[in-house]
Amino acid sequence: MTTATDLQTAATPREVWELLKAGNERFATGNTADPHRDPETRQQLTAGQNPAVCVVGCSDSRVPVELLFDAGFGDIFVIRTAGGCVDSAVAASVEFAVEGLGVDLVLFLSHETCGAVGAAVGALESGEIPAGLTRLFVEKIAPSVAEARTRGEQIEQAHARNGAEHLAARIPSVVAGLEEKKIGVVGARYRLSDGRVETTYENFGD
Ligand SMILES: [Zn+2]
Repeated sequence: MTTATDLQTAATPREVWELLKAGNERFATGNTADPHRDPETRQQLTAGQNPAVCVVGCSDSRVPVELLFDAGFGDIFVIRTAGGCVDSAVAASVEFAVEGLGVDLVLFLSHETCGAVGAAVGALESGEIPAGLTRLFVEKIAPSVAEARTRGEQIEQAHARNGAEHLAARIPSVVAGLEEKKIGVVGARYRLSDGRVETTYENFGD
């Protein structure tokens, strides 16, 4: 069923972003439409998927992407790692979403009180860089910590912008999609405190 909440009806990357923001508003105000969660939609999607947006976000259990944008089955191609850290598997997944699935928008989503960001800040402040695998968080998030301090902003705000800029500049299909104005890239921070997503970066190729 097609409704006004339907991400599939969006014709442009900007429209996809507007619909996502509208979905977040419904979520934050407790007026969810719960679209595309019915058995019929699930059944229809056995033929294939055509998501409107690829989201790179954090694995944090308090940041369930489909719920906070009031979306459902088939709407969002979600890639989650701790801190939204991008490695080659994440980059390849974004590339697949853009080239293979034809998403209109790529969104990097950070969030308040992120544990991976906190771990990076702690390591940088103490000078004790983890020797184990979690060292990756420090390596990936340190640039956002440095930038936030220079600009006097929240680290997760800087991380959302940096993450989005990274995807826009480094992933070949994203770079090409922006040049051709076929896709958009957005960075945003989710606030656990009031349920709202705030935009920190927008790039629609113009
Ligand atoms: Zn997190």
